This record gives sequence, C-alpha cells and structure tokens, in this order.
Amino acid sequence: MFDRGWTIFRIRGIPVKLHITLVLFLPYVAFVTSTQFRVIAEAVGLPRSEVHLPPLVWGTILAVGLFVSILLHELAHSFVALSNGVRVRSITLMMLGGVSRMERDVKPEREAWMAFAGPLSSFGIALGCWLFSLLPLPAEVRVAFLALALANAVLGAFNLLPAFPMDGGRVLRGLLSSRLGIRRATRVAATIGKGMAVLFGLLGLLSFNILLVLIAVFVYMGAAGEQGRSQFRQVLEGLPVAEVMTSRLGEAHADERAGEVARRLFRQNLAGALVVDGDGEHDGHDPDHVLGVVTAWDLARPELHRAPDATVGKAMRTDVPRVHTRDDAAATLDALVGGDAEAVLVLDEGEHVVGLVTPADLQRAITLLGAAGGRAR
Ligand SMILES: [Zn+2]
Repeated sequence: MFDRGWTIFRIRGIPVKLHITLVLFLPYVAFVTSTQFRVIAEAVGLPRSEVHLPPLVWGTILAVGLFVSILLHELAHSFVALSNGVRVRSITLMMLGGVSRMERDVKPEREAWMAFAGPLSSFGIALGCWLFSLLPLPAEVRVAFLALALANAVLGAFNLLPAFPMDGGRVLRGLLSSRLGIRRATRVAATIGKGMAVLFGLLGLLSFNILLVLIAVFVYMGAAGEQGRSQFRQVLEGLPVAEVMTSRLGEAHADERAGEVARRLFRQNLAGALVVDGDGEHDGHDPDHVLGVVTAWDLARPELHRAPDATVGKAMRTDVPRVHTRDDAAATLDALVGGDAEAVLVLDEGEHVVGLVTPADLQRAITLLGAAGGRAR
C-alpha cells in the first residue's frame, strides 16, 4: 500500500516514484505557505509592502523547493546504499520524506549509516539555504530561503526521531542490534514508533490538528509494517526457496492477448507464465529467452481492462528479481517487499527457470508454518 506510486523519472536506473500522500500534500503546502508568506516575512522584519510577487507564487515556489528537498534527502540514502554495493530498486517520495527500497538486508551498522545520510543531507540543505538567506538578495528571496532552511531542518529532525519507520528508527536499530540482536532491536524501534504515533495522534486530536493526526496514522502503520516484516523474516529464515516456490508455471508469447493468457492460467491452475520471445523454438525455461513474467495480478491491471486487445508483452514485468532454489526464502521476502515486483523468478543450479515465488506463496508458507506451531526440522 505504501509501495505504490507513479514513476516520474529515473536516476542511475532507479525509478523515482511519487506517492499519493505527496501529491496531495504539496498543493496543501503551496496553499498554506501562500496564506502565511507575508506573516513569515513580517516576523523577520520585512514589511508587507516589500513582498512583490503574489503570495500564491511564493507558495508554489516553496512547495517545489520542499519537493526538491525531499528528493535530495532520498537520493542521499540511495547513493550511500549504492556505494555500499546495495542495489536500490526504487525511491518513493512521500509526505514526510520517502522510502528507498533496497534489494536486500544489509548489516545493521551499514544500514544505520545509510539511514543517517538522509537527515544529514536535510541539515546540510538547511545550512545552505540559511547561508543564502544572509546574502544581499532581494528581501523576499531571502525570506524564501529562510523558510526552506526551516522546512529542511524540520524534515531532518523529524526523520531523526528514534522510531520506526523514521530514519532515526533505523539508526537506533543499527546501534542496538550489536547488543540485542536484530530482532529485538527491530521490536524496540517499532514499539517506540507505535508509542510515538499514539502520542502524535492524541496531541493532534486535542489540538484539532488534522495534519498531526495523519502523521500519527502514517507513523503507526509504518512501524507496524516494519514489525510484521521482521516477524515474517524470522519464520522464513533458513528455509530454502524451493520449499516455498510454486512450479505451476506456464508459458506465453509476448504477442498473445492478455485475456487469453489469463483464461489459460485459470483453466490450468497456474500461478503465472513466463513470457518468451516469438519463435517458440526453445525449451527448458532458459532464462535468456525469458523476456518477462506475468502473474494473475499483472494481468488484472485496470489499464489492460480498458484495452481488450492488449498483449501480454504490455502486461509483463521485465525487471523481476531472481533467486536460486537453495537461497534463503527470507531473501525473496526482501525482494518482494523491497521492490515493486509481484513475483520472484526461481532458477535451479543449471540456471533454468523452475518456478516463481509470489506474495501469495509467502503468505501461504507463513500461515501454514504459524499454524503448525513453527518449523519442525
Ligand atoms: Zn530518510
């Protein structure tokens, strides 16, 4: 739910997505700032008559400035991750920062450093904007820089709160996990996150501050999600991918109609299909001929409904993560939650495609192992 967003551009191959919360939040920022800009100006001793541009223009400029600030904050996370050899699958820009989806779990100390890079960059931008506000520029431009400096300082400080899902929660987990182990450290950071969310919620309700209530909901869901993932990981850890994957895999050609393939998946009770190139002269699920993968969810996308002649080539996913049968099943959880993939392709020792792991497969494994009272080994 928090993973969805519209891809607006790519940087070093990483899709940068815009989350619905930010789409709604930016016009709100523009509006509020436009009503407050003259007040802010007066507060720093600038008479109203000195503000020449219409307030709405300043509001829009500052909203765009905030957007760029959040983007730079996320890019700082991603670049530190990349320099640590961690693949970043996507960046989602949200209301109060963003989420950089990493391919796999990293050592907690490294994760702490990656998490710290974001707030650090926000403080850096705040410092830069404050220095600009001291330059002999037109008075209202200086006020705008001052406002941006303040916004970035708040962004940095908020994200540094030592609670999941904020960056500070990751820093805290990194620092705690050498003593408590990663699971207990995750639980502590998530519990603090939930506690803080309840506090924000109460404060928001008592002060009739809708924004604070929204932030509370956001933080609570993020903390709960992080805790849930940690528990799932625990269940799956040490289990080979072969035990959770499905081999009910069909084949489809890129130029086939999506509706036909959907019917075939249903009739033959298949979890998904490999999309292969047109000649059909190969077998053994050689990954070189696999163009992509479609699952039921890919075929059910609304844009395909509107175009009944759409081909499977339009529906398939091409950047599907790959794992091997003997890999740890917890790694597929990271790949599925970390990216926006609906499935992970499973290869055997001979690099042939032998199956798929979809979120439904993981859910089934986690539920059954839970019902069985843990893993019997
Ligand atoms: Zn951050």
